[in-house]
Amino acid sequence: MARLVMKFGGTSVADLERIRNVARHVKREVDAGHEVAVVVSAMAGSTNQLVEWCRQAAALHDAREYDVVVASGEQVTSGLLAIVLQEMGVTARSWQGWQLPIYSDNAHGGAHILEVNGAELIKRFKERREVAVISGFQGVHRETGRITTLGRGGSDTSAVAVAAAIHADRCDIYTDVDGVYTTDPRIVPKARRLEKIAYEEMLEMASLGAKVLQVRSVELAMQQKVRVNVRSSFDPPDAPEDGNHPAGTLICDEEEIVENQVVTGIAFSKDEAQLSIRRVADKPGVAAALFGPLADANINVDMIVQNISADGRTDITFTVPVADYERARQVLEQVKGKVGFTAVEGAADVVKVSIIGVGMRTHAGVAATAFKALAERGINIRAISTSEIKISLLIDAAYTELAVRTLHSVYGLDNG
Ligand code: ADP
Ligand code: ASP
Ligand code: MG
Repeated sequence: MARLVMKFGGTSVADLERIRNVARHVKREVDAGHEVAVVVSAMAGSTNQLVEWCRQAAALHDAREYDVVVASGEQVTSGLLAIVLQEMGVTARSWQGWQLPIYSDNAHGGAHILEVNGAELIKRFKERREVAVISGFQGVHRETGRITTLGRGGSDTSAVAVAAAIHADRCDIYTDVDGVYTTDPRIVPKARRLEKIAYEEMLEMASLGAKVLQVRSVELAMQQKVRVNVRSSFDPPDAPEDGNHPAGTLICDEEEIVENQVVTGIAFSKDEAQLSIRRVADKPGVAAALFGPLADANINVDMIVQNISADGRTDITFTVPVADYERARQVLEQVKGKVGFTAVEGAADVVKVSIIGVGMRTHAGVAATAFKALAERGINIRAISTSEIKISLLIDAAYTELAVRTLHSVYGLDNG
């Protein structure tokens, strides 16, 4: 007997037929004698609709009320799945974030989970063999008692947090692909499913745009040593006759991975905008004078490139989240007089393509290979940033697919 968390994303619960399919996956594990907590997302498209209604109600709205509205999508799914499970003869009960409770801070719209109480769930596993059906994406702030949400894609994090709280043997993330691929399989048909991927690599993949898992869920899994398995809810739900479960991707410690590729995957993010400050004085304190006000305005600066100056003046280029692009330009215009530069230029139609792999720690030449391959396709690189296990390149958005496919193939990741 094992204790499992099974998480089902939006596409997997898109309508009643799909919810019945999910219930069959759950029943398979219950029939095998396992203790099961299920975490569900809102039905596909419903969170977007709820977000849009808030926006239409008032462009600038109270974040606490936004959370009340958008958390409702998950409530519907948890109730429906509990009903369907009961109808199939499986003992089940739904739980909202405030009922368990799942305590979070009060950063409404992007709250962090602080503590999950799993005691009642464990008691019910033992006493009634009851399946818990938990609404993902939502928590409650202990002091105010108000509903919070965990940021888009947050049900992944709910699932990992519940898994840690109930000491689950495994956290299975069921989605609309059968695992983590070398890159988004919707962009590169030749992408390969990875048997295993190290926590650190998955963290980079998710942070750099692979939205298959929310970044925080990977952080939490790494910290709490939760074994996460990504697999497809579209695989046959009933127990296979040969006893072999369909494969997925296990996210685990680096030491568990024997296959040694230098590059594990390619990620890309369109959530970037580029800003360039022209002819700024090249003297101490200038970077602080530029980036200080941006930090004060809560704008995250990512890639930074600065030239060596010949005449005491230089150009500085950096990226910000595309949602903060206009605001960043305004902040910079405000400090223009004080800092002294000629112009702020920018581009929002850019994409950050990243090459990820723990093998980079010990292999030279990974960056050079990328530069050469992109140059041969006539793709210009606007900015570069690197860390121990990743290289990110900023390019024109029009070249996204070409760049991702080129890099995927040049590092030997193509299938077949
Ligand atoms: P869910 O609704 O189940 O949470 P998401 O849409 O959040 O599902 O995440 C699954 C999607 O992530 C896939 O449909 C796929 O297009 C996308 N994706 C991006 N990068 C990858 C990758 N490297 N491997 C697998 N899927 C990826
Ligand atoms: N329903 C939420 C969203 O669409 C949370 C999730 O699905 O993980 O972002
Ligand atoms: Mg998701």
